[in-house]
Amino acid sequence: MKFERGLEKLNIEFLKDKPLKDFTTFKIGGKARYIVFPKNIDELIEIIKLVKESGINWRIVGNCSNVLVSDKGFDGAIITTTKMDFFKTEENLIEAECGCMISQVARKACENGLKGLEFAVGIPGTVGGAVYMNAGAYDSEIKDVFECAEVLDEDLNIFKLGKSDMRFSYRHSRLKEEKLILLKATFRLQYAREEDVPPIEKANEYNQRRREKQPLQYPSAGSIFKRPPGNFAGKLIEDAGLKGYRVGNACISGKHAGFIVNLGDALAEDVRKLIYHTQKSVYEKFGVLLEPEIEFIGEFETPLFEMSTK
Ligand SMILES: Cc1cc2nc3c(=O)[nH]c(=O)nc-3n(C[C@H](O)[C@H](O)[C@H](O)COP(=O)(O)OP(=O)(O)OC[C@H]3O[C@@H](n4cnc5c(N)ncnc54)[C@H](O)[C@@H]3O)c2cc1C
Repeated sequence: MKFERGLEKLNIEFLKDKPLKDFTTFKIGGKARYIVFPKNIDELIEIIKLVKESGINWRIVGNCSNVLVSDKGFDGAIITTTKMDFFKTEENLIEAECGCMISQVARKACENGLKGLEFAVGIPGTVGGAVYMNAGAYDSEIKDVFECAEVLDEDLNIFKLGKSDMRFSYRHSRLKEEKLILLKATFRLQYAREEDVPPIEKANEYNQRRREKQPLQYPSAGSIFKRPPGNFAGKLIEDAGLKGYRVGNACISGKHAGFIVNLGDALAEDVRKLIYHTQKSVYEKFGVLLEPEIEFIGEFETPLFEMSTK
Protein backbone atom coordinates (compact mmCIF):
# COMPACT_ATOMS: atom_id res chain seq x y z
CA MET A 1 0.00 0.00 0.00
CA LYS A 2 3.05 2.20 0.36
CA PHE A 3 3.17 2.49 -3.42
CA GLU A 4 -0.46 3.51 -3.67
CA ARG A 5 -0.16 6.09 -0.91
CA GLY A 6 2.94 7.47 -2.59
CA LEU A 7 1.11 7.91 -5.88
CA GLU A 8 -1.83 9.58 -4.16
CA LYS A 9 0.44 11.94 -2.27
CA LEU A 10 2.14 13.00 -5.49
CA ASN A 11 -1.19 13.25 -7.30
CA ILE A 12 -0.07 10.78 -9.97
CA GLU A 13 -2.86 9.21 -12.00
CA PHE A 14 -3.31 5.44 -11.66
CA LEU A 15 -5.82 2.63 -11.97
CA LYS A 16 -6.04 -0.39 -9.70
CA ASP A 17 -6.96 -3.97 -10.70
CA LYS A 18 -8.06 -3.01 -14.19
CA PRO A 19 -7.82 -5.30 -17.23
CA LEU A 20 -4.92 -4.57 -19.53
CA LYS A 21 -6.96 -5.74 -22.50
CA ASP A 22 -8.48 -2.25 -22.52
CA PHE A 23 -5.01 -0.87 -23.26
CA THR A 24 -3.52 -3.38 -25.72
CA THR A 25 -4.07 -3.28 -29.48
CA PHE A 26 -4.63 -7.06 -29.27
CA LYS A 27 -7.54 -6.43 -26.84
CA ILE A 28 -6.12 -9.26 -24.75
CA GLY A 29 -4.70 -9.26 -21.22
CA GLY A 30 -5.71 -9.80 -17.60
CA LYS A 31 -5.69 -7.31 -14.76
CA ALA A 32 -2.70 -5.31 -13.62
CA ARG A 33 -2.38 -4.52 -9.94
CA TYR A 34 -1.63 -0.95 -11.00
CA ILE A 35 -1.61 0.94 -14.28
CA VAL A 36 0.19 4.23 -13.77
CA PHE A 37 0.14 7.26 -16.08
CA PRO A 38 3.04 9.69 -15.58
CA LYS A 39 2.49 13.03 -17.33
CA ASN A 40 6.13 14.09 -17.42
CA ILE A 41 9.68 12.96 -16.70
CA ASP A 42 9.57 14.13 -13.07
CA GLU A 43 6.50 12.00 -12.37
CA LEU A 44 8.08 9.03 -14.12
CA ILE A 45 11.18 9.32 -11.93
CA GLU A 46 9.02 9.52 -8.79
CA ILE A 47 7.17 6.37 -9.88
CA ILE A 48 10.41 4.46 -10.39
CA LYS A 49 11.57 5.59 -6.93
CA LEU A 50 8.29 4.33 -5.47
CA VAL A 51 8.34 0.93 -7.20
CA LYS A 52 11.88 0.41 -6.00
CA GLU A 53 11.08 1.42 -2.42
CA SER A 54 7.96 -0.77 -2.36
CA GLY A 55 9.72 -3.71 -4.03
CA ILE A 56 6.95 -4.28 -6.56
CA ASN A 57 7.40 -5.56 -10.10
CA TRP A 58 7.14 -3.01 -12.83
CA ARG A 59 7.21 -2.73 -16.57
CA ILE A 60 7.28 0.34 -18.79
CA VAL A 61 4.99 0.31 -21.82
CA GLY A 62 3.90 2.68 -24.53
CA ASN A 63 0.78 1.98 -26.56
CA CYS A 64 0.96 -1.81 -25.97
CA SER A 65 0.90 -2.47 -29.72
CA ASN A 66 3.71 -5.00 -29.67
CA VAL A 67 2.89 -7.00 -26.56
CA LEU A 68 0.88 -10.04 -25.55
CA VAL A 69 -0.27 -9.76 -21.95
CA SER A 70 -1.01 -12.95 -20.00
CA ASP A 71 -4.61 -13.84 -19.10
CA LYS A 72 -3.39 -13.78 -15.49
CA GLY A 73 -2.40 -10.16 -15.94
CA PHE A 74 0.55 -8.57 -14.19
CA ASP A 75 1.16 -8.55 -10.46
CA GLY A 76 2.81 -5.17 -10.26
CA ALA A 77 2.82 -1.74 -11.85
CA ILE A 78 2.45 -1.19 -15.57
CA ILE A 79 3.85 2.27 -16.23
CA THR A 80 2.22 3.68 -19.34
CA THR A 81 3.94 6.59 -21.05
CA THR A 82 1.14 7.68 -23.39
CA LYS A 83 0.50 10.90 -21.43
CA MET A 84 4.11 12.02 -21.89
CA ASP A 85 3.39 13.26 -25.36
CA PHE A 86 5.10 16.59 -26.03
CA PHE A 87 7.21 17.03 -29.15
CA LYS A 88 8.76 19.96 -30.98
CA THR A 89 10.38 20.53 -34.35
CA GLU A 90 13.43 22.72 -34.81
CA GLU A 91 14.47 22.97 -38.43
CA ASN A 92 15.05 19.33 -39.44
CA LEU A 93 15.30 17.96 -35.89
CA ILE A 94 12.33 16.60 -33.94
CA GLU A 95 12.58 16.06 -30.20
CA ALA A 96 9.78 13.88 -28.86
CA GLU A 97 8.88 12.59 -25.41
CA CYS A 98 8.67 8.82 -25.14
CA GLY A 99 4.86 8.67 -25.07
CA CYS A 100 4.26 10.56 -28.33
CA MET A 101 2.67 8.38 -30.97
CA ILE A 102 5.33 7.81 -33.62
CA SER A 103 2.56 8.04 -36.25
CA GLN A 104 1.73 11.60 -35.16
CA VAL A 105 5.37 12.67 -35.05
CA ALA A 106 5.89 11.12 -38.48
CA ARG A 107 2.80 12.75 -39.96
CA LYS A 108 3.81 16.17 -38.64
CA ALA A 109 7.29 15.74 -40.13
CA CYS A 110 5.81 14.78 -43.50
CA GLU A 111 3.44 17.73 -43.42
CA ASN A 112 6.43 19.99 -42.76
CA GLY A 113 8.17 18.65 -45.87
CA LEU A 114 10.67 16.56 -43.92
CA LYS A 115 11.49 13.07 -45.13
CA GLY A 116 12.72 9.99 -43.30
CA LEU A 117 9.75 9.00 -41.14
CA GLU A 118 7.21 8.30 -43.90
CA PHE A 119 7.42 4.58 -43.08
CA ALA A 120 6.16 5.22 -39.55
CA VAL A 121 2.83 6.96 -40.21
CA GLY A 122 1.02 3.62 -39.93
CA ILE A 123 2.85 2.25 -36.88
CA PRO A 124 0.50 2.40 -33.88
CA GLY A 125 3.19 2.68 -31.20
CA THR A 126 4.95 5.35 -29.17
CA VAL A 127 8.38 6.87 -29.69
CA GLY A 128 9.66 4.80 -26.72
CA GLY A 129 8.33 1.55 -28.18
CA ALA A 130 9.57 2.41 -31.66
CA VAL A 131 13.12 3.14 -30.49
CA TYR A 132 13.15 0.08 -28.20
CA MET A 133 12.09 -2.15 -31.13
CA ASN A 134 13.99 -0.23 -33.81
CA ALA A 135 10.62 -0.30 -35.55
CA GLY A 136 10.66 -0.31 -39.31
CA ALA A 137 8.80 -0.85 -42.54
CA TYR A 138 9.30 -0.38 -46.28
CA ASP A 139 13.11 -0.70 -46.09
CA SER A 140 13.46 2.02 -43.46
CA GLU A 141 13.83 1.86 -39.72
CA ILE A 142 14.12 4.14 -36.69
CA LYS A 143 17.90 3.76 -36.72
CA ASP A 144 18.05 5.70 -40.03
CA VAL A 145 16.65 8.87 -38.45
CA PHE A 146 17.72 8.46 -34.83
CA GLU A 147 20.02 11.23 -33.62
CA CYS A 148 20.16 10.80 -29.83
CA ALA A 149 18.06 10.04 -26.77
CA GLU A 150 17.83 10.72 -23.08
CA VAL A 151 17.48 7.58 -21.01
CA LEU A 152 16.94 6.73 -17.36
CA ASP A 153 18.64 3.77 -15.72
CA GLU A 154 17.44 1.79 -12.71
CA ASP A 155 19.63 3.86 -10.39
CA LEU A 156 17.78 6.93 -11.64
CA ASN A 157 20.71 8.36 -13.59
CA ILE A 158 19.71 10.26 -16.70
CA PHE A 159 22.16 10.19 -19.57
CA LYS A 160 22.36 10.79 -23.28
CA LEU A 161 22.95 8.11 -25.91
CA GLY A 162 23.95 8.76 -29.51
CA LYS A 163 23.22 6.50 -32.44
CA SER A 164 26.42 4.47 -32.08
CA ASP A 165 25.65 3.82 -28.39
CA MET A 166 22.29 2.28 -29.22
CA ARG A 167 23.49 -1.01 -30.79
CA PHE A 168 20.63 -0.90 -33.28
CA SER A 169 20.05 -3.90 -35.49
CA TYR A 170 16.98 -5.51 -37.02
CA ARG A 171 14.18 -5.00 -34.43
CA HIS A 172 16.80 -4.54 -31.75
CA SER A 173 18.29 -1.75 -29.66
CA ARG A 174 20.36 -1.45 -26.52
CA LEU A 175 17.14 -0.74 -24.60
CA LYS A 176 16.40 -4.47 -24.96
CA GLU A 177 19.70 -5.43 -23.36
CA GLU A 178 19.63 -3.19 -20.30
CA LYS A 179 16.71 -2.01 -18.21
CA LEU A 180 16.84 1.52 -19.61
CA ILE A 181 13.81 3.76 -20.00
CA LEU A 182 13.79 6.03 -23.00
CA LEU A 183 12.65 9.47 -21.84
CA LYS A 184 12.87 11.37 -25.10
CA ALA A 185 14.43 10.97 -28.51
CA THR A 186 15.66 13.31 -31.21
CA PHE A 187 15.26 12.40 -34.87
CA ARG A 188 17.23 14.01 -37.68
CA LEU A 189 15.24 14.24 -40.89
CA GLN A 190 16.06 15.42 -44.40
CA TYR A 191 14.48 18.33 -46.21
CA ALA A 192 12.52 17.00 -49.17
CA ARG A 193 13.86 18.33 -52.47
CA GLU A 194 11.62 19.65 -55.19
CA GLU A 195 12.13 16.54 -57.32
CA ASP A 196 11.19 14.19 -54.44
CA VAL A 197 7.74 12.69 -54.04
CA PRO A 198 6.26 14.91 -51.28
CA PRO A 199 6.74 13.04 -47.96
CA ILE A 200 3.05 13.22 -47.10
CA GLU A 201 2.14 11.59 -50.42
CA LYS A 202 4.65 8.82 -49.83
CA ALA A 203 3.30 8.31 -46.30
CA ASN A 204 -0.29 8.14 -47.55
CA GLU A 205 0.74 5.61 -50.18
CA TYR A 206 2.37 3.42 -47.50
CA ASN A 207 -0.81 3.60 -45.44
CA GLN A 208 -2.87 2.62 -48.45
CA ARG A 209 -0.61 -0.42 -48.92
CA ARG A 210 -1.14 -1.33 -45.26
CA ARG A 211 -4.91 -1.14 -45.63
CA GLU A 212 -4.72 -3.41 -48.68
CA LYS A 213 -2.34 -5.99 -47.19
CA GLN A 214 -2.95 -6.01 -43.43
CA PRO A 215 -6.02 -7.14 -41.44
CA LEU A 216 -6.43 -3.74 -39.79
CA GLN A 217 -10.11 -4.33 -39.01
CA TYR A 218 -9.18 -6.85 -36.28
CA PRO A 219 -7.27 -6.33 -33.03
CA SER A 220 -3.68 -7.55 -33.35
CA ALA A 221 -0.10 -6.78 -32.37
CA GLY A 222 1.12 -6.43 -35.96
CA SER A 223 3.63 -8.99 -37.21
CA ILE A 224 4.02 -11.73 -34.63
CA PHE A 225 7.39 -13.01 -35.82
CA LYS A 226 10.63 -11.40 -36.87
CA ARG A 227 11.68 -11.76 -40.47
CA PRO A 228 14.02 -14.77 -40.64
CA PRO A 229 17.25 -14.08 -42.58
CA GLY A 230 16.61 -14.29 -46.33
CA ASN A 231 12.94 -15.11 -45.92
CA PHE A 232 9.54 -13.76 -44.86
CA ALA A 233 7.63 -15.11 -41.88
CA GLY A 234 4.26 -14.53 -43.56
CA LYS A 235 5.31 -16.48 -46.66
CA LEU A 236 6.61 -19.45 -44.64
CA ILE A 237 3.43 -19.54 -42.54
CA GLU A 238 1.27 -19.37 -45.65
CA ASP A 239 3.33 -22.10 -47.36
CA ALA A 240 2.90 -24.26 -44.25
CA GLY A 241 -0.84 -24.09 -44.97
CA LEU A 242 -1.66 -22.15 -41.82
CA LYS A 243 -3.64 -19.19 -43.17
CA GLY A 244 -6.93 -19.09 -41.28
CA TYR A 245 -5.74 -21.67 -38.68
CA ARG A 246 -7.44 -21.02 -35.34
CA VAL A 247 -7.01 -21.75 -31.68
CA GLY A 248 -10.12 -20.51 -29.89
CA ASN A 249 -10.69 -17.02 -31.18
CA ALA A 250 -7.06 -16.38 -32.09
CA CYS A 251 -6.54 -16.84 -35.80
CA ILE A 252 -3.74 -16.60 -38.35
CA SER A 253 -5.01 -13.89 -40.64
CA GLY A 254 -6.23 -14.98 -44.04
CA LYS A 255 -5.17 -11.58 -45.38
CA HIS A 256 -1.60 -11.57 -44.04
CA ALA A 257 -0.24 -14.77 -42.50
CA GLY A 258 2.33 -12.83 -40.46
CA PHE A 259 -0.50 -11.45 -38.30
CA ILE A 260 -2.45 -13.24 -35.58
CA VAL A 261 -5.83 -11.56 -35.13
CA ASN A 262 -8.27 -11.58 -32.25
CA LEU A 263 -11.67 -12.54 -33.65
CA GLY A 264 -13.35 -11.66 -30.34
CA ASP A 265 -12.38 -12.33 -26.72
CA ALA A 266 -9.39 -14.48 -27.69
CA LEU A 267 -7.25 -15.57 -24.75
CA ALA A 268 -3.55 -14.91 -24.45
CA GLU A 269 -3.07 -18.68 -24.07
CA ASP A 270 -4.88 -19.20 -27.41
CA VAL A 271 -2.34 -16.86 -29.02
CA ARG A 272 0.56 -18.67 -27.32
CA LYS A 273 -0.75 -22.04 -28.54
CA LEU A 274 -1.06 -20.62 -32.03
CA ILE A 275 2.48 -19.25 -31.86
CA TYR A 276 3.78 -22.64 -30.69
CA HIS A 277 1.91 -24.50 -33.42
CA THR A 278 3.13 -22.07 -36.08
CA GLN A 279 6.75 -22.26 -34.93
CA LYS A 280 6.60 -26.07 -34.82
CA SER A 281 4.92 -26.44 -38.22
CA VAL A 282 7.27 -24.03 -39.98
CA TYR A 283 10.30 -25.59 -38.31
CA GLU A 284 9.28 -29.12 -39.26
CA LYS A 285 8.46 -28.14 -42.84
CA PHE A 286 11.25 -25.70 -43.65
CA GLY A 287 13.82 -26.00 -40.84
CA VAL A 288 13.37 -22.31 -39.98
CA LEU A 289 12.76 -21.31 -36.38
CA LEU A 290 10.49 -18.28 -36.26
CA GLU A 291 11.35 -15.93 -33.44
CA PRO A 292 8.57 -13.82 -31.93
CA GLU A 293 8.84 -10.11 -32.59
CA ILE A 294 6.22 -9.32 -29.96
CA GLU A 295 7.11 -9.13 -26.28
CA PHE A 296 5.36 -11.04 -23.51
CA ILE A 297 4.10 -9.57 -20.26
CA GLY A 298 3.17 -11.83 -17.33
CA GLU A 299 3.23 -15.61 -16.99
CA PHE A 300 2.14 -18.12 -19.63
CA GLU A 301 1.41 -21.82 -19.47
CA THR A 302 2.14 -22.55 -23.13
CA PRO A 303 5.87 -22.41 -23.85
CA LEU A 304 7.46 -21.05 -26.97
CA PHE A 305 8.62 -23.78 -29.36
CA GLU A 306 12.26 -22.76 -29.09
CA MET A 307 12.17 -22.98 -25.31
CA SER A 308 10.55 -26.41 -25.27
CA THR A 309 13.01 -27.89 -27.77
CA LYS A 310 16.17 -26.79 -25.97
C1 LIG B 1 -1.55 -2.97 -36.95
C2 LIG B 1 -0.11 -2.92 -36.51
C3 LIG B 1 0.89 -2.62 -37.42
C4 LIG B 1 2.23 -2.58 -37.02
N1 LIG B 1 3.19 -2.28 -37.94
C5 LIG B 1 4.48 -2.26 -37.57
C6 LIG B 1 5.50 -1.97 -38.53
O1 LIG B 1 5.25 -1.70 -39.70
N2 LIG B 1 6.79 -1.99 -38.11
C7 LIG B 1 7.13 -2.27 -36.81
O2 LIG B 1 8.32 -2.27 -36.49
N3 LIG B 1 6.18 -2.54 -35.88
C8 LIG B 1 4.88 -2.54 -36.23
N4 LIG B 1 3.92 -2.82 -35.30
C9 LIG B 1 4.32 -3.16 -33.91
C10 LIG B 1 4.38 -1.95 -32.95
O3 LIG B 1 3.41 -0.98 -33.29
C11 LIG B 1 5.75 -1.30 -32.91
O4 LIG B 1 6.75 -2.23 -32.54
C12 LIG B 1 5.80 -0.13 -31.92
O5 LIG B 1 7.02 0.53 -32.07
C13 LIG B 1 5.62 -0.54 -30.47
O6 LIG B 1 5.41 0.64 -29.71
P1 LIG B 1 4.51 0.63 -28.40
O7 LIG B 1 4.55 1.99 -27.81
O8 LIG B 1 3.17 0.10 -28.68
O9 LIG B 1 5.33 -0.37 -27.50
P2 LIG B 1 4.73 -1.41 -26.44
O10 LIG B 1 4.02 -2.50 -27.15
O11 LIG B 1 3.98 -0.67 -25.38
O12 LIG B 1 6.08 -1.96 -25.83
C14 LIG B 1 6.94 -2.74 -26.63
C15 LIG B 1 8.27 -2.88 -25.88
O13 LIG B 1 8.88 -1.59 -25.81
C16 LIG B 1 9.23 -1.29 -24.46
N5 LIG B 1 9.07 0.16 -24.26
C17 LIG B 1 7.99 0.92 -24.55
N6 LIG B 1 8.23 2.20 -24.22
C18 LIG B 1 9.48 2.26 -23.70
C19 LIG B 1 10.30 3.30 -23.18
N7 LIG B 1 9.88 4.56 -23.09
N8 LIG B 1 11.54 2.97 -22.75
C20 LIG B 1 12.00 1.69 -22.82
N9 LIG B 1 11.26 0.67 -23.29
C21 LIG B 1 10.02 0.95 -23.74
C22 LIG B 1 8.26 -2.09 -23.61
O14 LIG B 1 8.78 -2.37 -22.33
C23 LIG B 1 8.09 -3.36 -24.43
O15 LIG B 1 9.10 -4.27 -24.11
C24 LIG B 1 2.57 -2.86 -35.67
C25 LIG B 1 1.55 -3.15 -34.75
C26 LIG B 1 0.23 -3.18 -35.15
C27 LIG B 1 -0.84 -3.48 -34.14
